[in-house]
Amino acid sequence: MRTFQTRSGIVQFNIEINRSLARKVKEKEENSMKKVVKFGGSSLASARQFKKVGDIIRADKARRYVVPSAPGKRNDKDEKVTDLLYQCYDAASEGRSYKKILEKIKTRYEEIIEGLEVNLSLDHEFARIEENFVNKAGRDYAASRGEYLNGIIMAAYLGYEFIDPAEAVFFDNDGNFDAEATDKELAERLEHVERAVIPGFYGAKHDGSIKTFSRGGSDVTGSIVAKAIHADMYENWTDVSGFLVADPRIIKDPEVIETITYKELRELAYMGASVLHEDAIFPVRKEGIPINIRNTNRPDDKGTLIVESTCRKPRYTITGIAGKKGFCSINIEKAMMNAEVGFGRKVLEVFERNGISFEHMPSGIDTMTVLVHQSEFEDYEQSVIAGIHRAVEPDFVEMESDLALIAVVGRGMKASRGTAGRIFSALAHARINVKMIDQGSSELNIIIGVKDADFETAIKAIYDIFVSAEM
Ligand code: ADP
Ligand code: ASP
Ligand code: MG
Repeated sequence: MRTFQTRSGIVQFNIEINRSLARKVKEKEENSMKKVVKFGGSSLASARQFKKVGDIIRADKARRYVVPSAPGKRNDKDEKVTDLLYQCYDAASEGRSYKKILEKIKTRYEEIIEGLEVNLSLDHEFARIEENFVNKAGRDYAASRGEYLNGIIMAAYLGYEFIDPAEAVFFDNDGNFDAEATDKELAERLEHVERAVIPGFYGAKHDGSIKTFSRGGSDVTGSIVAKAIHADMYENWTDVSGFLVADPRIIKDPEVIETITYKELRELAYMGASVLHEDAIFPVRKEGIPINIRNTNRPDDKGTLIVESTCRKPRYTITGIAGKKGFCSINIEKAMMNAEVGFGRKVLEVFERNGISFEHMPSGIDTMTVLVHQSEFEDYEQSVIAGIHRAVEPDFVEMESDLALIAVVGRGMKASRGTAGRIFSALAHARINVKMIDQGSSELNIIIGVKDADFETAIKAIYDIFVSAEM
């Protein structure tokens, strides 16, 4: 037993009590907190990466539900297991030789298992997968095996329960994600499961056949699980220290965005900032669950917080820049088109009939331009042009291909004047011809069209004027 004769001794005693109380409160908080942690392909590409992931999970008790991707690239020249699975399936289902690719995939997993020293064999799994490939189980089934097998390893490594999304993440028979059925099933399954591994990227249709989300879809699974368990946080662990102001493959060491809203993120993700799947915000958005993008290789970095709304001012006038190449514009001219009621509808109906969705539609008094993805449009171009002639009898229809769209996004733009002016002067200085400009009514984004060849230079010019110059 301790005795305290001096005043400083009593103070010390109180400090210790307070510390131990604070520790207990923190422990209690951690015990009741729930986080979903999703790890991307590069975070799980090797046993070495798996160990980093294990350390991250064990460092916080709240990290209870783990969503792994398939093993990604270990270096720039490496291949993603998902890509190997597609190749392997195509060969096997078409009767071409596939054994070599299958062996390559098997080796990737065996190296991870050996490096982690877990007592596990995937031989039975691979025998079944091979049989299903030959029997044409489908490309989605094939791709999903990447996450499925990584999930089995992860569950064994962590000692967590494995939950197969084929039994809990549902799609309707047309292949659309069934949010309601999934939420109900996952919530029920996870209610009494303290800790679990739920592989990303896939689920099943109601008839039991496997269906995947689009590429990068493990981000979506993480969000779905976070919603189902009412998580306090959805942590998305990747190979960069957060959402960056611009693509790091174009701008060297871009600044990290500290806080970004769901809306801003959606604009940027849709326009090519591929760090988070563009649909990943929908499930968590319903519950206001924040997403934290973190770096598996630098776990102490705070990363980016993605929230519903924030009163935090962005550091720069803009939050981020993203863009995509490969668009094509269809320019329609007709004198007095502005007076012709229904002109726009008739033109857009032609695109609809050909199954093409349009990206943007800037217009003038006698002109209307429709921007579409070149790859979707190419096969239908003549049918669309003929359709437009029949529908609205234009004076002139002209097309331009190889266009890039750049989105400059930021909640801060609303409050500041002259943003568009600064963008144009930066582009003019860089000798770039602007093909199109479109500002959304939310004043959250400005879209600029340039030639594909000017894409990188344009992004650099915009980054410099807003970020380097405002630093
Ligand atoms: P994961 O395999 O972890 O899901 P992804 O490859 O899907 O990771 O996404 C991370 C990558 O996204 C980064 O390595 C980076 O090259 C790319 N990227 C593109 N734009 C951005 C951006 N604005 N911020 C961060 N990363 C970006
Ligand atoms: N493995 C899948 C892909 O490569 C899904 C993902 O990584 O999120 O697209
Ligand atoms: Mg990804």
